[in-house]
Amino acid sequence: MRRLVVISNRVADLTRTAQAGGLAVGLADSLRERGGVWMGWDGQSLKYEAEPEPRIRKIGEVTQATIPLTQQDYSDYYLGFANSVLWPLFHYRLDLVDFKTAFLDGYRRVNAKFANALMAILKPDDLVWIHDYHLIPLAAELRRRGCQQRMGFFLHIPFPPPEILAAVPRHRWLVESLLEFDVIGFQTNTDLGNLHHYVEDNLGSWIKPDERIRIGEREVIAGCFPIGIDVDSFIAMAEQPNDEVQIETQRRAILGRRQIIGVDRLDYTKGLPDRLRAFARLLELYPEMRKSVALMQIATPTREEVDAYVSIRKELEALSGEINGRFADFNWTPVRYIHGTVPRDALAALYRASPVGFVTPLRDGMNLVAKEYVAAQSMDNPGVLVLSKFAGAAEDLHEALIVNPYDVDDMARNLRRALTMPLEERQKRQKALMERIRRHDAKNWLNTFMAALEDEQTQPSA
Ligand code: UDP
Repeated sequence: MRRLVVISNRVADLTRTAQAGGLAVGLADSLRERGGVWMGWDGQSLKYEAEPEPRIRKIGEVTQATIPLTQQDYSDYYLGFANSVLWPLFHYRLDLVDFKTAFLDGYRRVNAKFANALMAILKPDDLVWIHDYHLIPLAAELRRRGCQQRMGFFLHIPFPPPEILAAVPRHRWLVESLLEFDVIGFQTNTDLGNLHHYVEDNLGSWIKPDERIRIGEREVIAGCFPIGIDVDSFIAMAEQPNDEVQIETQRRAILGRRQIIGVDRLDYTKGLPDRLRAFARLLELYPEMRKSVALMQIATPTREEVDAYVSIRKELEALSGEINGRFADFNWTPVRYIHGTVPRDALAALYRASPVGFVTPLRDGMNLVAKEYVAAQSMDNPGVLVLSKFAGAAEDLHEALIVNPYDVDDMARNLRRALTMPLEERQKRQKALMERIRRHDAKNWLNTFMAALEDEQTQPSA
C-alpha cells in the first residue's frame, strides 16, 4: 500500500477523544485505520520567523509532522483570509466577509511555507491528500517546487455558487489553484455543481460525460465524497454512559422530562439564535410542552479572536437568559446552555438519552453531529432527528424531519411533531437513517476518495 500523506491546517491530538470539529474527527477516525503521515500547523504562533524542519511524533500507525507559524501568519492567514474571508464566503455570508490585501498575502505565504516543509518529507511514491479551505493553493505551490506525486483535495465546508464566489478578490486564481489537484472532493452534489458552473462560465473548461473536468491538456476528477463517522465505535460509546450521564438521565426520567439536544461549535453558521427562538416558540405555541421538555445546547468555543464570534456568543448568552427568565419555574430550567467542550463519549450517551436531536445550521458542509445522533439511538426507542435543509447531511438523511432554519415556526412545529411521533414511525425512520449513515461512513469516505486518488488514469500535471 502506498504511503498516505495528509495535510490540514491543524493536526488533531490522536490521543484524545474530545475533538470539536468534523475535520478532526473524520480524519482521525480514518487515519488511525490506515496509518500514514499527518502534517499541519502545531498551534503555536511565534514572534520570530522560523522555518524549521517539521517536528515529528509517532502515535500508533500515524506519524505527525507539525510546523509553527509566526504571529503575523496566524493573524493574516488563519484569522484573516481563512476565517474572515473564505469561511464566511463559502458559507454564503457575504455580509461577514472582511477582506484585506495583507490577508491574501499571508494566505499565500503560509501555503508556501507548508509546501517547503512538505518537500522535506515527501517520498516519490506518496499519495498526498490536502484538506480544506486553508490550503487551496498548496498543490500549485508544490507543483512549482517540482512535486510530481498525485494530489487530492477535500473541501469539508460548502462550495458557494459562482455569483457568491465572485465577491472574493482573486477568485479566479483561487479556482485555478484548486484545479491543480488531480482529485477534488466535495461533501455534496450541490457543492460539486457549483464548481462545475464556475469552471464552465469563467474558465472555458468543460465537464466530460464521465464528470471529469477538462482544462487545457489536463483532466481533473471532481466528485462528491460525503464524509461519515465510524458508526460502530460511536454505538459502543453510546451504549456505555459514564456515571454522571447515567445519573442525569435517571433524574430526568423520574421528573418525566424529555431532552432536546443541540451540539455545535459556537459558530454563526450553526443557526443557534433561531434554534433557541424556535424552542421558545414551541413553549409558546404548545403550553402543554412546558415543564415536560428542556433544551440542552452545547456550544463549543471556537475562533474567539474573530469579532463575529464574540457577537454570536453574547447574543446566545442573552437569548438563553431571556428564555429562562420568561419560562423557567422553581424546579424547571427550559434551556441549559453549556459553553464548553464535551468529550465525544459523553456526547454519545447524551444523544442517546435525548428524544430529539436538533441540528439547524444555516449552511453546513456535512454536519457530523446529525450522523452521530442517529448512530447513538437505540432501535427499541429511537429519538428523532430534526435537521436543517441547508446541512450537507440533508442531501442524504431524508428520513429526518427536514426544516428551514430561518423559519422559527416551522422548526417549532417540527419539534412538536418529533416529540409526539409514534414509536412505529420513529423506528421506521431510524432504520432507514442507520442504513444511510452506514453506507456513507468514515471508511467508505476514505476508501472511495483513495480509490479516486490512486486511479492513475488522470495524469498529474507536470
Ligand atoms: N464535538 C465534540 N465535543 C464538543 C462539540 C463537538 O467532540 O463539545 C464533535 C462532535 O461530536 C462532532 C464534531 O465535533 O464529531 C463536530 O463536527 P460537525 O461536522 O458537526 O461540525 P463542524 O464543527 O465541523 O462545523
